[in-house]
Amino acid sequence: MKPDLHCHSYYSDGAHSPDFLYRRAIENGVTHLAITDHDCIEALVKPMDDCYEIQIITGVEISCEWETQEIHLVGLCIEHENSQLISLLKQQQNARYSRMQAMDKLLDENGIYGLQDYLNQLPCKAFTRSHVADFLLSSGKVKNKQQAFKQFLGKRGKAYVPFQWQSMVRAIETVQAANGIAVIAHPGRYPLNQLKLELLINQFKQMGGDAIEVSYGAVQPKIQKKLENLAGKYSLYVSVGSDFHNAEAHWTDIGKYPRVSSSSIKNAIWNHPRWHPL
Ligand code: AMP
Ligand code: MN
Ligand code: MN
Ligand code: MN
Repeated sequence: MKPDLHCHSYYSDGAHSPDFLYRRAIENGVTHLAITDHDCIEALVKPMDDCYEIQIITGVEISCEWETQEIHLVGLCIEHENSQLISLLKQQQNARYSRMQAMDKLLDENGIYGLQDYLNQLPCKAFTRSHVADFLLSSGKVKNKQQAFKQFLGKRGKAYVPFQWQSMVRAIETVQAANGIAVIAHPGRYPLNQLKLELLINQFKQMGGDAIEVSYGAVQPKIQKKLENLAGKYSLYVSVGSDFHNAEAHWTDIGKYPRVSSSSIKNAIWNHPRWHPL
């Protein structure tokens, strides 16, 4: 079994179609693929070109908030027709679009026009700052995406618009209302010290959370080990995924993430009672 339980299509900020992702996953020997778009399940709804020899795991990545920190919650094995889930995602998508309108206004004030037209021609359902970075890059205003975040989109950037995501507890409840498994995405990527990271994981467990990602694209070995230890300490299942967005980024690929230790893999998310392919 070689799963990849975290990646993005062009319905959020990935560069490729779901068909491309399934084909590439098969090429890379992946047996189970979850497309986990930001706040959107369009990849599960739209018809595909073909029927693929791969197990499809339903998924989504919900942006939420815990103690003023933005956290990403992956929901796996969700019933994507669940009305509570659909309504939360619709709310997030609308809020994301309003945020884009506010950013568009700020860019206008800086003499940069055309964000809305750029966004409206994309297949995307959940707009992110990554799309604004692509727009700035394509219109020649920045040299690369890092510069876009530094100058415009990061907290001190000229087009930054703060955002109030819904709470982590509500995101967990909604994933579970849809019979899904709630997973903290890439826990080592948040700006939290050791104590705060453990507090997050402890409180996530108390809120009924199920699992944490311990291995993901470019995770450092030291961090992975710490996450595996925390998963053990708080009796959480362990999940894995590349967080793949774009084939042009050569440091990442579908199915590419460090191996999980044999002791941790005993608590792999595919042993969870609610785990099931589509
Ligand atoms: P949002 O959810 O709208 O706040 O946008 C966040 C998305 O932007 C993330 O999912 C990343 O894909 C991307 N992102 C965030 N920070 C950076 C950065 N410094 N450089 C490139 N992409 C970034
Ligand atoms: Mn992203
Ligand atoms: Mn994320
Ligand atoms: Mn992601």
